[in-house]
Amino acid sequence: MSAYGSDMSTPSASAIHILGVRVDAVTYAEALLRIEGFVREGGPHQVVTVNPEFIMAAQRDAAFRDVLNRAALAVPDGARILWAARHLGRPLIEQVSGVDLVERIAARAAETGWRLFLLGAAPGVAERTATVLTTRYPGLSIAGTYAGSPALEEEEGIVARIRAAQAEILFVAYGAPAQDLWLARNLARTGAAVGMGVGGSFDYIAGAVKRAPLWMRQRGLEWLYRLIRQPWRWRRMAVLPRFVIAVMRQSSVASSQTIF
Ligand code: UDP
Repeated sequence: MSAYGSDMSTPSASAIHILGVRVDAVTYAEALLRIEGFVREGGPHQVVTVNPEFIMAAQRDAAFRDVLNRAALAVPDGARILWAARHLGRPLIEQVSGVDLVERIAARAAETGWRLFLLGAAPGVAERTATVLTTRYPGLSIAGTYAGSPALEEEEGIVARIRAAQAEILFVAYGAPAQDLWLARNLARTGAAVGMGVGGSFDYIAGAVKRAPLWMRQRGLEWLYRLIRQPWRWRRMAVLPRFVIAVMRQSSVASSQTIF
């Protein structure tokens, strides 16, 4: 089997491509069902949470684009992915945000007995995340936590640590693309059935960083909240207008191909 799971050869029938990056048309419930299947099946399955920053980074970084497109599951993370899908004539039912998917996986893990390993974030944050999750979802089993870093020289040690912990699910919080490239290189060796890059999710769950209020998230304004709270993000967010323009261009090319 491939390092990315059997779905690599049979991508979801209902996948869309936004600027050359695959996004699976799944809801939270469907994503969770797929993840349950991955754990049952065993072997490595990488989950990616595709947002506009990922897609724009993938335009310049072919290795990152390959990792995204070969993932066993690519969830639509964010309101602007939904906008893009609608604009391309393939509307999606709901966004599946990384942090909410982490919570839902933890809730399911408390019922099924899957063991979670939390890798990454600043020292202490993964431990605090574990405490919050086990309080919120009684019965949840945490196989281990470790901050470490995505530096190549740390990989062997980190892989050995996760392997010894015997986790079914591995969350990696090193930010994109480092976390997703890390998983593509190492997930198979960790023994975990599911590996997912989770960005700043631990920071939110541990309470180190506050999430945008629900009304802002529902209106697709999470980016504005993050920009106000974490202004150093402006450079990363500067890609968003370019994302909008590129999607509009993709949709006009697609419609001209349909007409002619
Ligand atoms: N991080 C890390 N080591 C690194 C780089 C990043 O542990 O070398 C962590 C950082 O502490 C944060 C997460 O990776 O918890 C990235 O969060 P960010 O908010 O940038 O990700 P996003 O949600 O925007 O993808």
